[in-house]
Amino acid sequence: MYISTRNNYQKVAAATAIKLGMVPEGGLFIPEEIPRISVQKLKELKGAAYRQIAETVLSLYLHDYLPEEIKSCVEKAYNMQNFQHQDVAPLTEINKNTYILELWHGPTAAFKDMALQIMPHLLSLAIKKNESHKETVILVATSGDTGKAALEGFKDVPGIKIIVFYPEQGVSKIQELQMKTTGGNNTYVVAVEGNFDDCQSAVKEIFGDRAIKNRLDAQGYELSSANSINWGRLLPQIIYYFSAYLNLWNDGEIEEGEKVNFVVPTGNFGNILAAWYAYKMGLPINKLICASNENKVLTDFFKTGIYDRNREFKQTMSPSMDILISSNLERFLFEITGHDGEKIGEWMNQLNTTGKFAIESEFREEITKILAADYAEEEETLLTIKEIFEKTGYTLDTHTAVGVKVYNKYVQATQDQTKTVIDSTASPFKFNSSVLRALQGQEVLEGKNEFDILKELSSVTGNPIHPALKNLGQQPIRHTRKCNKKDIRQEIEDILEL
Ligand SMILES: *Cc1c(COP(=O)(O)O)cnc(C)c1O
Repeated sequence: MYISTRNNYQKVAAATAIKLGMVPEGGLFIPEEIPRISVQKLKELKGAAYRQIAETVLSLYLHDYLPEEIKSCVEKAYNMQNFQHQDVAPLTEINKNTYILELWHGPTAAFKDMALQIMPHLLSLAIKKNESHKETVILVATSGDTGKAALEGFKDVPGIKIIVFYPEQGVSKIQELQMKTTGGNNTYVVAVEGNFDDCQSAVKEIFGDRAIKNRLDAQGYELSSANSINWGRLLPQIIYYFSAYLNLWNDGEIEEGEKVNFVVPTGNFGNILAAWYAYKMGLPINKLICASNENKVLTDFFKTGIYDRNREFKQTMSPSMDILISSNLERFLFEITGHDGEKIGEWMNQLNTTGKFAIESEFREEITKILAADYAEEEETLLTIKEIFEKTGYTLDTHTAVGVKVYNKYVQATQDQTKTVIDSTASPFKFNSSVLRALQGQEVLEGKNEFDILKELSSVTGNPIHPALKNLGQQPIRHTRKCNKKDIRQEIEDILEL
């Protein structure tokens, strides 16, 4: 069963948690108990295909889904039409002991596809299981990649409308084009004058608002979320930690029971939290390394125990990590405090009213046993892209480069020789301008449009342009909605004709 991080809601089954998206009274759903995966089971999975690993992991959490339902969701999501690589999430060795886990072979070139290709199927079933006859409205706040991945996942799914809000100045040109060209007659895309936190806060507020809920009800709508506040988004992300580990083992890179590190370029703390669940389930992990860009609120938090979002919001080259309020930290803290919902409620309340909260040192010490954190500056990120390309021929995107830089700092500080997997969260083509600038200098961008830059990046790196991005230029713009951050609610009312 699933419980609220603020002890303010009854226990619910997985399908209800997924359908609701978040706890209506505020708070997030987490599994009451974390299932374990035995050493024997891991052994059986060694050499298994991604789909089989997926079925195993999902069944441990979705007790109210039938095995054949899970199997069918997995098959619809992780197939060769959707993913360009037969491993789904392949590993590449860039250095002795260092591997890149490529999470961007899905249809939108974002790691969000790993979860958002399956989540709509899980949600459709959840709606059926709850015998809901309402139309579901998925509200999404995105710093770029979730938006397109969610739009593609939910496009033309019967009984569902999806509305995406993104910060107008806070996404790459390619990301914006990807969203604005989405087809489907149930998709809505809104550019917001504001930053990602503004979009996310507005969406979360609407989830907690009784008045709007009643009006939606009356019109036959109910809300859900495709952000990582929804357990259905987080759960599928646990799968690739198992698959990465099992692939390393199967390839003879590690021995039975050998621990590995995972480095995670972090924004909303969803991806790294999925890694932590894998660890708690019994996957041999030594350290989880949380990598931030100059919006280093998490680095500071893990170093000092004080979470303080009162600081300048910086626009960086890794916009999917430009976040000052990391939603899933709430889940992590609930786990670390031994399910102390009162404490979490207080901290989140303080965060809401004063922008900060502090945790006791015992909790911080507990956290640092498993988690290390650091950040990379913009200049470091550029240099890392260039350096890795020159040394290894591998092209990093700006987010993955933050991970690589933070990992290098970690090794320097600790001398830790544990084999390490670095999550690669985006194709370099998605952040084409920054990556090309890193490799060739600012001048090379002059006079080039987005598509010239894609071609140039392809010829400089020798990699083919990701198929999701190749034909973007020929697609018509279908979405032109725009609003101020204060008017997000009004925009929803207009779209749904409330
Ligand atoms: C979403 C995203 C992240 C951050 O992941 P979280 O789960 O929010 O921490 C990092 N990099 C890219 C490219 C992303 O799209």
